[in-house]
Amino acid sequence: MSEHLEEARREMVERHLRARGIHDERVLEAMGRLERHQFVDGPMMNRAYEDRALPIGQGQTISQPWIVALMTEALQLVGDERVLEVGTGSGYQAALLSRLCAKVYTIERHSELLIRARRIFETLELDNIISRRGDGSIGWPAEAPFDRIIVTAGAPQVPEALVRQLAIGGRLVLPVGDRREQELKVIDRLSESAFRGRSAGSCAFVPLLGKEGWSPNQPG
Ligand code: SAM
Repeated sequence: MSEHLEEARREMVERHLRARGIHDERVLEAMGRLERHQFVDGPMMNRAYEDRALPIGQGQTISQPWIVALMTEALQLVGDERVLEVGTGSGYQAALLSRLCAKVYTIERHSELLIRARRIFETLELDNIISRRGDGSIGWPAEAPFDRIIVTAGAPQVPEALVRQLAIGGRLVLPVGDRREQELKVIDRLSESAFRGRSAGSCAFVPLLGKEGWSPNQPG
């Protein structure tokens, strides 16, 4: 079983990530080591290395490996950064970040998901992850500024609070669009008031719900 999963993970890295344009060797190496099957429920384990999002409960998903790799590569981590993640979900993205930067702050609105993710962080001894339950659309003001911010749920617009909590020289990566489809945006903070943004392609995330996200009751 574990040999079969190890082989599937190797194939995921080569076929779905490297062959499709992911170049950052640190990201490829970390995804080659991190056991995605530990972040999904038993019946899903055998599908953990397919290039697709999988259900994790509460109507939420663990993101597709390709998009995780793309967003992580876009963060351009060298190892000394403090990173905020909005949307802990299964904990997979946070665990990956924890192996690529100095400290990860991650926020999740569903306590059931957060509790499960924390258990995995403990098992894997990922001691540089700090997590809390809450509305990540308003960031984590007490710990700001952050060198990098990654949002793993689709926002209707770029949350002002997250922009304010970005360090000068920092980078924000997030999906922005409607509830079904978004554009992946990469925003650099060049100075106190100057920003530069680009699009890194289209994607489809579950909605970011909260004060600077979608209203939980909003249609469409
Ligand atoms: N990064 C996750 C992983 O590696 O499994 C996948 C995230 S899943 C696609 C999106 C997550 O964002 C869900 O768990 C959802 O509950 C959470 N979420 C949505 N709005 C949020 C908010 N305002 N604050 C915190 N988490 C939020």
